[in-house]
Amino acid sequence: MTAHSTANTDTRANVASATHAPAQKTAYTTVVGLEIHAELLTNTKLFCGCPNTFGSGENANTCPGCLGLPGTLPALNRAAVELAIKGGCALGCDITRTTGWDRKSYFYADLPNGYQITQMYAPICTGGGLDIGGGRFIRLHHIHLEEDAGKLIHDNARNTTRIDFNRAGVPLIEIVTMPDMRSAEEAVAFAEQVRQTLVYAGVCDGRMEQGRFRVDANVSVMPVGSEKLGVRSEVKNLNSFRFVAQAIESEARRHIRTIEEGGELRQETRRFIESSGETEAMREKEDAVDYRYFPDSDIPLLTLDDGHIDSLRASLPEPPGARKARYVGEHGMTETDADTILSRKTVADFYDGVVALGAEPREALGIVRGEILRHMGDTENDAIGVSPKDAVKLLRMGAAGEISAANMKKAVAMLMRGSGATLDGIVKAENMLIREDTEALAALTALVGDVLAANPAAVASYKAGEAKVLGYFMGQCNKTLKGAVQPQTLQNEIKAQLEKWGT
Ligand code: ADP
Ligand code: MG
Ligand code: ZN
Repeated sequence: MTAHSTANTDTRANVASATHAPAQKTAYTTVVGLEIHAELLTNTKLFCGCPNTFGSGENANTCPGCLGLPGTLPALNRAAVELAIKGGCALGCDITRTTGWDRKSYFYADLPNGYQITQMYAPICTGGGLDIGGGRFIRLHHIHLEEDAGKLIHDNARNTTRIDFNRAGVPLIEIVTMPDMRSAEEAVAFAEQVRQTLVYAGVCDGRMEQGRFRVDANVSVMPVGSEKLGVRSEVKNLNSFRFVAQAIESEARRHIRTIEEGGELRQETRRFIESSGETEAMREKEDAVDYRYFPDSDIPLLTLDDGHIDSLRASLPEPPGARKARYVGEHGMTETDADTILSRKTVADFYDGVVALGAEPREALGIVRGEILRHMGDTENDAIGVSPKDAVKLLRMGAAGEISAANMKKAVAMLMRGSGATLDGIVKAENMLIREDTEALAALTALVGDVLAANPAAVASYKAGEAKVLGYFMGQCNKTLKGAVQPQTLQNEIKAQLEKWGT
C-alpha cells in the first residue's frame, strides 16, 4: 500500500510549528501512520509448545522448533488465532474467513529460520478503526498475526553480544493503520486507546517497558491544504508513549528542515535515540519484494467459521469506551475520575464489583481514589489485595459507626499489603471495632483521667484558652485506644473532664 486518501477532515490538524524553523516559508501538516506490535497473552508460542513468558533465563523457553533446527514442523497455536480474532473484533475489524501464512525472508541473528512466519496476502483482520474523540476516526488498514524474533543482548563490559531466543516464535498481532493521524498528540491518543482496548479484551498485557506492546511510527509532512502525502520515514520500536510523541515531533521537524533547505527526503527506516529524543538512520526502506514473501508450504490455510467468530466476539467484556460512558453518564463521574478508574482494568473491575454489591458509586470512587490507587502507586503489579466484598463490608461498618475512618484506611492498607490475614482477622487482631458499652466507657473515663494527670502543663494551656491542645490529648489517648472509640465520644469525654479539672 502506498498513498491512502484520508476520509478524515483535519479538524485537529496540527500545523507543524514554525517556532523550530524561524526561516520557514510554508506551513506543514504532519501525517502519521502507525504499525503497532502487540504480543498475545497465550501460554505458549505461535508454532511450538514453548512457554510465552517474559523474564525467564536466557534461552530457557526454546525447543528445536523455535530454534529453527532441521526436522521440525510448525503446529499452529489455536489460542493465538482466537486472541487475534478477539483483538480484531474489539477494534471493529472484519475477520478474514480463509487466512494464510507467508514467509518473510531476511537474515539477522535473532531469526533462526532465516524467515519470519507472518501474514502478507490474507491477514486475519481487515478494516476497522477507533474513534479518538473530537470527531476523529482513525482507520486500520489490517491486522496480521506473526511470530516475534529473538533478542540480541549487547554486553558492552565484555564486548560481546548474546542471543536470547525466548521471544523467538512468541505470537503477536501487528495493527497497521491508514496514514490518518495528523499530529503526535493524535498518534499517542490512538495508540493509548488501542492499548487499553487490547488490555481490556485480554488480548495483550500492554507492558510497553517489556516490549510486549511497541509502536513503529511512519511520519511525513505536506504543505497545509495539500492532499498529496509526502515521503515518509519509519521510526522503529518505540516502547513508551513519550517516545512515540518525541519521535514524531523530531521527524516532522527534520522533514520540514530538509524540504526548506532544498534537500531530498528518502524513504528510510530510523531508530529513536532515547538520550536526545532524536532519530538516526538505520537503513534505506526495503520494498516488499526485497523480502521475497511467499506462502509457507508447511502450514495449511486456516478457515474460520462464522459461529466460532461470533462466539469469540460475544465473549469480549464491556469495552473501556462503553465503561467510561457508563461511569460519566450513569454514575455522574467526571471524565478525569472515569479515566483514573479505567487506567487499570483490575481497578475498574474492582470499582464495578463494589458498586454491584450495593455501594453508592460515590462511595466506591472514594475508596478507589483514596485508598486502592494510593497503595498501588505506580507499581507494575495490578493485583488488588482487597476484594469488593471486603471493601463493601468496611464501608458498611464505617457507616454504622462500628469502625473509625482511620481504622478503615488501616485495614485496607493491611489487606493491600497481603499478609494473608482476612478482614475479620485484622479487625480482631488490631482491636479495631468501636466499643462504647458500659465497660468500654468506664475504661475511657479512667484513661482520659490518666492522660490529663500526666500532662499538667498541657491542661494549664487549655485552661488559658489554647483549644488546640485537645488534639494533643486525643492523640495521647489514641495511643491506647487505637481508634476503638468514636472521635466524637473521645473528644466529649476529654472536654467534660477538662471542664471539671481542678474544681
Ligand atoms: P510497508 O508495508 O512497506 O511498511 P505500508 O504502505 O503498508 O508500508 O505502510 C505502512 C505504514 O505507513 C502504514 O501505517 C501507513 O499508514 C503508513 N504510511 C504510508 N504512507 C505514509 C505517509 N506518506 N506518511 C505517513 N505514514 C504513511
Ligand atoms: Mg512496515
Ligand atoms: Zn519452541
